[in-house]
Amino acid sequence: MRKKALISNRREAQEYQTESSGMFFKVKNVLCEKKSAFQRIEIIENDFFGRVLFLDGLVQTTERDEFFYHEMLVHPALACIRRPEKVLIIGGGDGGALREVLKYPVKKAWLVEIDQEVIKACAKYFPWLNGALSDPRAELAIADGFDFIQTTTEKFDVIIVDSSDPVGPSAILHARKFFLKLKQALKPEGVIVAQAGSQILHLQEHRQKATFLKRMFGIARFYCSPVPTYPVGTWCYTFLSDQIDPLTVRKLRIPPGLKYYNSDIHSSSFSLPVFFEKALTRPR
Ligand code: SAM
Repeated sequence: MRKKALISNRREAQEYQTESSGMFFKVKNVLCEKKSAFQRIEIIENDFFGRVLFLDGLVQTTERDEFFYHEMLVHPALACIRRPEKVLIIGGGDGGALREVLKYPVKKAWLVEIDQEVIKACAKYFPWLNGALSDPRAELAIADGFDFIQTTTEKFDVIIVDSSDPVGPSAILHARKFFLKLKQALKPEGVIVAQAGSQILHLQEHRQKATFLKRMFGIARFYCSPVPTYPVGTWCYTFLSDQIDPLTVRKLRIPPGLKYYNSDIHSSSFSLPVFFEKALTRPR
């Protein structure tokens, strides 16, 4: 997993993505530095990437490239569903995934975020992401995603897991028992999509996830897309369903005005490089 060795000072913020390599941002301004009950929250301003949110020293989102991630997390699932009514997002306190979900005529979207301080910081410094929370269809719950999914009586068309890396409060959001609970809260023709980490940095985790997810769901596919500020640049997601195969859906229902995702990107994102496919199909 990513190293938590970021040093955020007044001049430079660094994320060590591996022991020996990483990413740095020149700091134009430090906008927010606080420690919540769950994590360290830092927001800086950088000349190229604009505002950058770090949680526990790891880049979560930047003003410049957030749409790469948020569009690819949400649209491959939502565009496959004929009439998505109820959508659940677990994590995602910056609000970017919710903003994309609300581009569909959904009846209700829940955002379950464990850390109220992330919501507050993003309301102030990322209003173009967080603004979705004022939509009347959105409902915010400040809660642990695992607790929420164990107690909800709702059935969802789409569940989106917009977690951080599997350390600290997010570790549970990558576990087998969490995915079992998600499946129980999903409509039979529903889809779960979860961010899964870096293509090469987290290969061992992908291998383990592929093993249990393929047993749990009729359709369990990985897809990948670039996110320039995430470790090593290519990010992975899992698409899980018992009935919907993203590669055979006849008509993708894509909302207008997107900046990254389209139907060609949809199909190509599920084509995996040889080393990755091998890792998933020949789990150790
Ligand atoms: N996709 C981004 C990445 O990988 O860099 C992460 C986006 S989002 C900001 C992740 C959110 O998940 C954080 O705001 C964090 O507080 C929240 N989170 C972590 N563990 C959680 C849990 N158990 N239940 C609900 N939210 C959780």
